[in-house]
Amino acid sequence: MNHAEAAVAFNRDENRVDWHDETLWFVRSKRDRAAQTLPEWEQLREAASQIKNHVLSNMHDLLTQFEQNALANGITVHWAADAAEHNAIVHKILVDNGVNRMVKSKSMLTEECHLNPYLTERGIEVIDSDLGERIVQMRNEPPSHIVMPAIHLKRADVGDTFHKHLGTEAGATDPQYLTEAARQHLRDTFLTRRVALTGVNFAIAETGGFVVCTNEGNADMGVHLADVHIACMGFEKIIPRAEHLSVFLRLLARSATGQPITTFSSHFHKPRRGYGRRGDGRRGDGRPGQQMHIVIVDNGRSRQLGRPEFRNSLKCIRCAACLNTCPVYRRSGGHSYHSAIAGPIGSILAPNIDMKQNADLPFASTLCGSCSNVCPVKIDIHEQLYKWRQVLMQEGYGPTAKTVSMRAMAGVLESPRLYRLAGKVGRGVLRFAPVLAENNLNPWYQHRDMPEAPGESFREWYVKRVMSDER
Ligand code: SF4
Repeated sequence: MNHAEAAVAFNRDENRVDWHDETLWFVRSKRDRAAQTLPEWEQLREAASQIKNHVLSNMHDLLTQFEQNALANGITVHWAADAAEHNAIVHKILVDNGVNRMVKSKSMLTEECHLNPYLTERGIEVIDSDLGERIVQMRNEPPSHIVMPAIHLKRADVGDTFHKHLGTEAGATDPQYLTEAARQHLRDTFLTRRVALTGVNFAIAETGGFVVCTNEGNADMGVHLADVHIACMGFEKIIPRAEHLSVFLRLLARSATGQPITTFSSHFHKPRRGYGRRGDGRRGDGRPGQQMHIVIVDNGRSRQLGRPEFRNSLKCIRCAACLNTCPVYRRSGGHSYHSAIAGPIGSILAPNIDMKQNADLPFASTLCGSCSNVCPVKIDIHEQLYKWRQVLMQEGYGPTAKTVSMRAMAGVLESPRLYRLAGKVGRGVLRFAPVLAENNLNPWYQHRDMPEAPGESFREWYVKRVMSDER
């Protein structure tokens, strides 16, 4: 199902669409208020954009520096050219440790690589520990938003899901009761998993460490109790120095949810060392040392880096402000984008991964520019969407109906005689046989009123007027 078809399906439930629209707009408004509390907001955006420009131009050196420092810190560094390699690396770490259960903190990269189904097929149980992620995982759905994965669900939907999977009371909608049920459910997971996987928000070349931002502390809970920490990052997550973190951390949470900062910004630098047993004269709790792995993934990113018009998209810090503000996303729902990352930025990234499969996404925009206006790293999102449309049409991936009608329109516009004739026919149809235009075969009419046709064209009116003036 392409985006337009999926959006039609989403729009059938008008109340839900209105609620979705208002909920996302509420988050967007919070973002505006948070941004206005900082007089230096625009300078911060500019600084972030410049730092990311530097990163894009020095990617190789920064990643090499990061690898050297991470290795010196005792972290094992893996490189994955694509999703298949990423998944195989994670699987091998699990097999090497004799583990068939893993806890995961929110990571959109693993969604992009389809890690969960890959591991499940190989007999590994993966539990997502972010509450929203866990809810959609129980429902066997992908996340519909990169920061709020279950934002498409109402409280009653969550109540039903928990009743079915966690045995909560039927019809329960009290957030405190439902959250407590999820907490009890996840507690056991945190306590019993020996391997924890997290995403990476920022990897610091200067230190070889990385930062994971969450609001629930689930990354810390999973990682601190596990013997093995696997962190997976797209290579664009690199930043040069620790001092740059403050710029991004101030922008990220304000842009995402209107918070001054995420509740947890967890810094990881090196694996936990093994401690001796208590009572043997040494400090510690008897736990063995921890392994820390980082998997650095390309999966089409170097191709995007090599496309001058689209490389800017790699500056994205995944705050989702562009989703929250997008009038199309708000009224079509995240799942209609059929891609791990929905919304405006997803519509730029997805055609890079698979042009044919995602050719519809850059057209899912009004090009109003609101996404570019809110983007904390100043990505020219709506301009890139427009450029993708041109590339896709040139490469022959445009929808057939649109390609044919645009060619026909070009022929009409090239010939003044044809143009006049087409105008006459069109006006005649609208005035005397409107049913020929106002029917469900006309996709324009399905969502808009047709205009009332005048009796004459502008040209006819103008010629008549000039002639009467001359007389
Ligand atoms: S493109 Fe900009 S606004 Fe959209 S998620 Fe990325 S950083 Fe945020």
